[in-house]
Amino acid sequence: MSNAADSNPPTPEEIQKKLEEVMKQNFPGFQTINIGPQPHSESAPLDDPPEDELADIDFEFDHKPRDVKTHLDRFVIKQDEAKKVLSVALCDHYHHVRLALDGNEQPNYTKQNVILIGPTGVGKTYLIRSIADLIGVPFVKADATKFSETGYVGGDVEDMVRELVRRADGDIRRAEYGIIYIDEIDKVASATGQSGKDVSGRGVQTNLLKLMEETEVPARSPNDIAGQMAAMMEMSRGGRKSASTINTKHILFVVSGAFDGLEKIVRKRLREGSIGFGASAQTDEDEDRIFEHAQTRDYIDFGFEPEFIGRLPVRVVCHPLNTDDLFHILKNSEGSIIRQYEEDFSCYGIEVLFKDDGLRAVAEKAGEEKTGARGLMTVCERVFRDFKFELPSTDVKRFIVDKALVSGPAETLQNLLADHQNEERTVMRQLVHDFGGRFQETHGITITFTPKAADKLVDEALAQSKSVRDLCTEKFKDYQFGLKLIAQNQGGGTFKLDHKTVENPDKVLSEWVVKSYRQKDEKSGDDDGKDSEQT
Ligand code: ADP
Repeated sequence: MSNAADSNPPTPEEIQKKLEEVMKQNFPGFQTINIGPQPHSESAPLDDPPEDELADIDFEFDHKPRDVKTHLDRFVIKQDEAKKVLSVALCDHYHHVRLALDGNEQPNYTKQNVILIGPTGVGKTYLIRSIADLIGVPFVKADATKFSETGYVGGDVEDMVRELVRRADGDIRRAEYGIIYIDEIDKVASATGQSGKDVSGRGVQTNLLKLMEETEVPARSPNDIAGQMAAMMEMSRGGRKSASTINTKHILFVVSGAFDGLEKIVRKRLREGSIGFGASAQTDEDEDRIFEHAQTRDYIDFGFEPEFIGRLPVRVVCHPLNTDDLFHILKNSEGSIIRQYEEDFSCYGIEVLFKDDGLRAVAEKAGEEKTGARGLMTVCERVFRDFKFELPSTDVKRFIVDKALVSGPAETLQNLLADHQNEERTVMRQLVHDFGGRFQETHGITITFTPKAADKLVDEALAQSKSVRDLCTEKFKDYQFGLKLIAQNQGGGTFKLDHKTVENPDKVLSEWVVKSYRQKDEKSGDDDGKDSEQT
């Protein structure tokens, strides 16, 4: 018996009792109700499913293994054997489900639960998720290390089943033939004598085993106080019992892990087996191929309960991905991360062109991460981080991703921005000369700018974040008056403005005017129209 002083968490019964006390105190009309079976009880289900939930459900399945594999080929690169085995197993399973839903269930059918072996990031989850998408069944992924035997400290394995209902938009019937994917299953192998995880690992295996066989899971978690409150309120109001149970008979379970250490067990057995095959397997097979020879007894030696492993008849190996595979994932997979980058940039009106040598450089870097295709995301994030930050605020509208960019993203970005600035400066210089043209049209006086003067104006416009036209208009706003005087004194001409003039236009103009008067006085009558100051 626990009380408030105990460090143990309260039992569901205690929670229920407390809740009822609170409800009765605060709401006199409240009636006591029974919440129903507790997490691991074998007792009768909470309620019979309402009639409408038993109504025929709409589940079509007419796929053939080859179609499923063709679908997978679009997204998942390599892992050919795994794709084949999974296509067959999944088709078998869902044909069986279809028959069961039609009331023609085959007796003694063995569910095609799957063990997927392989390192991280090689497509294990991706394979199963893609199949779930194709078939249109709900999919849940969980991590075996998150579960504890009691379900209090960590999660409760039954939570996965309830999550499946959420993924099926609350449709319990659909959840009942969904897919539950449990990663890191190798971490709950008890490995007696090898690690300290025995007890909890075995407990989790037992709990999972119940789900994999067949059990009724309460649709509301006994630990979900809010849910239980809602149920109580509903019942006390005399409403219909909406809570129900989820039968796990047709839920497909896929468990996966890297199974580090299993290869040693297999190799040892093969060696001891001595019959020819063992020896050849050692010499001829790739290191990673060794998993394909794993047998039930190897899994038991690894630390799985025989009943548990017995419920997982389909065993599939996914292989590590090399640089070529990573390159193909980037280039050919429909789910390639580069499509995502193209989209991200296109939101800012920026077009990205990925060149093969760029993709290969990404793949090489990703290979060094040793996290399979996940490395591609890590590398891309690192390479494009600053591009994503800087480019949307510039006028750069396209760029090329090549080897140079991937090896030196910072320098490439700088160059890109500098090149872009150069382009911008060219346009700005043209605007300076255009100003000269307009000045001529408006005032009938020709002014031209030396290259240095135009550069000076561009610098100023950039520094002041002003438009070139505005800057010139401001700087030379009184020029027409002065230049007209000079033209009269000297008989007209073309005025070439140099960088010093541009720096201090008013001062230079007044000097020119004074000079023109002086010249006029000195050589009265002399009509020698010529260029103005040309320093
Ligand atoms: P894990 O093997 O650890 O379950 P995932 O399947 O979750 O790895 O892979 C992570 C991501 O990497 C996937 O979402 C997918 O984008 C990409 N990926 C992994 N393997 C492949 C592959 N063989 N082909 C294409 N993409 C892959």
